[in-house]
Amino acid sequence: MSSGAAAQERGTCSPCRGTGRVSSSLGGTQHEVTCPWCGGDGVFHSGRDAQQGAKPER
Ligand SMILES: [Zn+2]
Repeated sequence: MSSGAAAQERGTCSPCRGTGRVSSSLGGTQHEVTCPWCGGDGVFHSGRDAQQGAKPER
């Protein structure tokens, strides 16, 4: 993804833009999942490993 880092607000999760939800196309079907970067609260947690919460939900 290429988003303007300059406009990134500190504390707001940029992948989901603070919504706590991101679109995922895993499995071929696009659906919304809880943002693994913030855990769904829309706030960026420094040091959080997004890959830990990137497990596909159904
Ligand atoms: Zn997020």
